Amino acid sequence: MQINVAQSAGFCFGVKRALGIALKTARSGIAIEMLGDIVHNEDVVREVTKVGIKKIKRLGEGTNKILLIRAHGVPQKTLKEARKRGYTIIDATCPMVKEIHEIAKGAEQNGYKVIIIGDHKHDEVRGIIGQLKNKAVVIEDVKDIPLKKVKNIKKAAVVVQSTQNIEEVTKIANVLKRAIGELKFFNTICQPTQTKQREIKGMPLENDVMIIIGSKTSANTKRLYQISKSLNKKSYWVKSKKDIRGEWFKGAHRVGITAGASTPDIATKTIIEHIKKMNR
Ligand code: SF4
Repeated sequence: MQINVAQSAGFCFGVKRALGIALKTARSGIAIEMLGDIVHNEDVVREVTKVGIKKIKRLGEGTNKILLIRAHGVPQKTLKEARKRGYTIIDATCPMVKEIHEIAKGAEQNGYKVIIIGDHKHDEVRGIIGQLKNKAVVIEDVKDIPLKKVKNIKKAAVVVQSTQNIEEVTKIANVLKRAIGELKFFNTICQPTQTKQREIKGMPLENDVMIIIGSKTSANTKRLYQISKSLNKKSYWVKSKKDIRGEWFKGAHRVGITAGASTPDIATKTIIEHIKKMNR
């Protein structure tokens, strides 16, 4: 049985960078707090907690503490509040997310209504909304477009959450183009996500079985799984080797493996070894 691993499997540039910053900051010996998990992966969160970085739900007293900002970014008011409370800020926001902030802010300053294509509840989307003075319109699905509201907009700028699926985004953008007189569309899906999506559109067709590795809390892993499943019914989403079932590989000659942007390489390596062992 041949095992084919996606070149883009695992940590994206932004997650690698954020994790590097977190581990380096931890060596400073100063108390570090972080709003939420560094990435949506339990193993990585455990690693970060082990070096002393504390996850918090809301800001507390910040004197003599560092607040570490995750790759997804945060609203401006969170930074302001943190500084007021005395925190020193270490910002690990992914530069590609920062670029979305800048595009959205620039468009608003030039009189465009900002429309964000993304998940309402995702921290990255909240962070983008939180850069703006006016309320942004968030669209999650082509079925949820608030057409009445959208038709009243004279000029709009569309930005996209970095991990969205380009096909769904294009459907939404096409409806918006027909409804709004002047529309600027910025495809802000990041390069690592585009590479991942390109691979996941080919691999399920070239392999008998697809294994997608990542936490059930990871939105980008879920998206990879959904695309894979739509192309190959024998697609399985696993977190660890314990989730693997021998019967999935019956009669399979080629197995494709990919992993979400928050999945550590060690998880992928362990699963590959496990599949190899099962087939010896
Ligand atoms: S998915 Fe893209 S934008 Fe998000 S952290 Fe990774 S590289 Fe940055």
